[in-house]
Parts: sequence; C-alpha cells; structure tokens
Amino acid sequence: MVRKKMQIVVSVWVLAGLLSVFPWTQAVAKTVEVFPNVFTIVHGEGIDSNTTFIITKDGVIVVDTRVSPAEAKKVMAEIRKRTDLPLLYTINTHYHGDHTFGNQVFSGSKTIIAHKNVRRSLTGEAGHDHLEFFKTFKLEGLDEVTVTPPNMVFEKNMEVYAGEYYLKLIHFGRGHTDGDLFIHLPTLKAVIAGDLIFNGQFPYMGDGYVDEWIDALDFIENEDLEIVIPGHGAVGGKPIIIAMKHYLLNLKTLVKEQIENGASLKQAKEALNPILKEKYKNWGKPERIDGNIERTYMELSFKKNS
Ligand SMILES: [Zn+2]
Repeated sequence: MVRKKMQIVVSVWVLAGLLSVFPWTQAVAKTVEVFPNVFTIVHGEGIDSNTTFIITKDGVIVVDTRVSPAEAKKVMAEIRKRTDLPLLYTINTHYHGDHTFGNQVFSGSKTIIAHKNVRRSLTGEAGHDHLEFFKTFKLEGLDEVTVTPPNMVFEKNMEVYAGEYYLKLIHFGRGHTDGDLFIHLPTLKAVIAGDLIFNGQFPYMGDGYVDEWIDALDFIENEDLEIVIPGHGAVGGKPIIIAMKHYLLNLKTLVKEQIENGASLKQAKEALNPILKEKYKNWGKPERIDGNIERTYMELSFKKNS
C-alpha cells in the first residue's frame, strides 16, 4: 500500500450537544484520514476521546465507541458516509466510559474485543457503578447507555486479520488502567495507543499505575513506528509517546523526592502543582494535576512501605 501522511480534515461536524455542556468551548470534531481507509475522529474540546475506524475490503473495524449511544451514532454516520460494508469487529482500548459507552451502537459487529479486565470492569455491578460515576459529570445521553461489555477477551496478545489489514492487540501490563491494550499496525508503522497517551493534556490517572505506565510507553517507543494515534488529542508521531513518558517520569521523580523529605500528600500537592503547571503550561486539563500527584504519592508510598 502506498502510505500517505495524514490528510487532515475530511469532514467536520459541530458537537451541538457538547456545546450545551461546555458553553465556553467551540467543540468541533474532525475526522482525520490518517492513512487511506484509516480514519480517526479527533475532538477539540469537551469529551474528546478519540475513535478510529478502519475500512478493510471485508468490512469495518471500530476502535473505541465514545461516551454515549448518541455520540456513537455520529461515528456510525461518519463510517456510513464512506462505506456500506458490514461491521466486522469493535475493539475497546480500555474500560472507561468515554471509550465504551457507545458499544451498544456497534453490537451489529457481534464481536467486541478487549482485555479480559475490561469485561470484569463493565459487567454487572462494576459496569453499573462506572456508569453512575460518569453520570456525576452531568453529560448528555448517558440515560440511553446500556453498558455493553466486550464478548471476546484475551490476556496478553491477540492478532486480528481482516481484509488486507493485520492488527496486533497488545496488553503490555497495567498502565492507564489494569486492562489497557494498544494496537500495532506493523505494515503501516502505526499504533493506536488508547489512553496510554494523551496528547497535549494532562492524563487522567484515577486508575493508573505510574511505574508500569512508564514501562508500557518504553515498550511502545521502541516499536518501529511513525504514526501514533492517542486516546485523546491530535494524531502525532513518536514525540507524543516521549512527551507522555517524560511527564510521568517527572511526576514520579518529584513525588518521590517529596516522600523522601517526609512531605504529607497535602504538602506534596502544594509544592508540586505549581511546578507541573508551569512546566507543562501548554497542556490542557491542569485540573487533573492534583489527582496525578495523589495517585503517584499513593503508589510510591505503598511500594516504600511494603
Ligand atoms: Zn481512559
């Protein structure tokens, strides 16, 4: 296949629903043709989780399904503008609702693939609790969600052959959650990283494991790659892997220093929040910094004491 570098902005729609929730933004979703037949829908603001779809000659693969059925239907409309081929597979990069609460719209694929811990996190009471947690954000469309767990799961790696495409699904270990996968497309030298990578914004770390997240990024960085599709933010190259890794390394080093100096969690937050805010002043979602410090402080303290 002739590889083309990103052809930006195939189509644009305005997220009218999101505007009512986030009136201060001009949220605009863009569908970017990353390669011929590989599209990523990237959101500027608001609920900006990315979705990628691959149109193979045999059918369509969807990676992550947005935060609600209404949002997922917009993804489906983008697919149907381009092909009438059937859905083959839906893949969830991890369990978070902004990547899975649209699953029901893609149930026509019959197969929703994820790491086995995603099924655990979305089944029964756990799934119900996760939806209730998302409802606290007062987002539109969550009342229509029927939490739909993956029905094909794996533990370490899985390979998917579809039409002319070959996807390696890899669970390196814990990172952003305990059930992350990333998708390596070796022939395209591309990776769909899920939320192991946030581009241009502080990551959400509420379910994260900082040490193992750094290890996972190290592994991805050493793959033969040119294009990196993050879970949030614009498509990029290796520098966006390195930026995320350096942030986590910085965070870890700073928090470790605080713990060694006997600082309480509150003192660590007070000392480090302004440092990180300044160092990453171009990044969005600075309101996540305190949570990032807290999660890292807990992890490192636990390890120190065990
Ligand atoms: Zn996530």
